Amino acid sequence: MKISSRPFELKLKYPFSISGYSRTSTPIMLIEIEHEGIRGLGEASMVPYMGESVETANAFLQKVDLSWLRAPFNFDEVIQCLDSITPGNPAIKAAIDIALHDLEGKLEGAPCYSYFNSPPDKMPVTAITIGIDSPDIIIQKVKDAESAKVLKVKLGSDNDKLLIETIRSVSNKPLYADANQGWTDRSKAIEILYWLKEQGVEIVEQPMPKSDLEGNAWITERSPLPILADEAIQRLGDLEKIKDAYHGINVKLMKSAGMHEAFKMIKRARELNMKVLIGCMSETSVATLAAASLAPLCDWADLDGPFLTSNNPFRRPDFKNGRWVLPSDSGLGVL
Ligand code: MG
Repeated sequence: MKISSRPFELKLKYPFSISGYSRTSTPIMLIEIEHEGIRGLGEASMVPYMGESVETANAFLQKVDLSWLRAPFNFDEVIQCLDSITPGNPAIKAAIDIALHDLEGKLEGAPCYSYFNSPPDKMPVTAITIGIDSPDIIIQKVKDAESAKVLKVKLGSDNDKLLIETIRSVSNKPLYADANQGWTDRSKAIEILYWLKEQGVEIVEQPMPKSDLEGNAWITERSPLPILADEAIQRLGDLEKIKDAYHGINVKLMKSAGMHEAFKMIKRARELNMKVLIGCMSETSVATLAAASLAPLCDWADLDGPFLTSNNPFRRPDFKNGRWVLPSDSGLGVL
């Protein structure tokens, strides 16, 4: 089992801005794991605020030894092995997990979604994000996102209402909203949630800072819209801590250390009667197809990486009726 890697700078079509933060590209680590001449592809998207980088990824990869691994892979053992190197670094762990899933599919001649009993015909629509910007750029972004059936907006600035009103001046598509921990006043948050509902918003992510479990729980109890945890949850172990404070969770492969644990998180959330959104970072077709393989098991999808980036080195998967189309090829089906 041979691992090779190369860093890649994934450029964003528009600078990415959320409350208090902006950037124009994302460092990616593309990896290949080769076994008997067959190669599995994986990807780590290392958005700077998560603390990983090309340097940390390289240092991690040097410590990975998969010589003990035999197909069919035992992914519990794989994750245990990766976690024994260090508890953090979920993105580079995800790259390895994704590459092994792709490899396993290719070795077995099966598409990745089939391991998870994930039905391709149940694929939810994927939202395309309209980032915080000036009104004329927002209108341009809405036009660019023509193929989306639903749009996602980043809130949490002082101009939340203006942003929504600008979108509503040109589009009546349903909206998903993400406050990115930007709200601090609980009563105002409830007020805006009622207003957002009137504006056709359907879900809201992470209203208050992740550390304020009680504040988020207070809002969830009174909210007219489903409230989802994003920053407040990374891996499976976090779910029990936050389960009573939100209606649901945003699962992302770059937080969960890959597909195997993301699947477990979806399963556990269902047992807890929680809703699930599957989301992404700035990602190429590799991580997008990996997440899309699990998306049919979720209520909502926000897998817009290939729409928001300009130099995806792989072919963009087919997108029809606002949904990713899962290829029937073995593995992930990345071209
Ligand atoms: Mg979010």
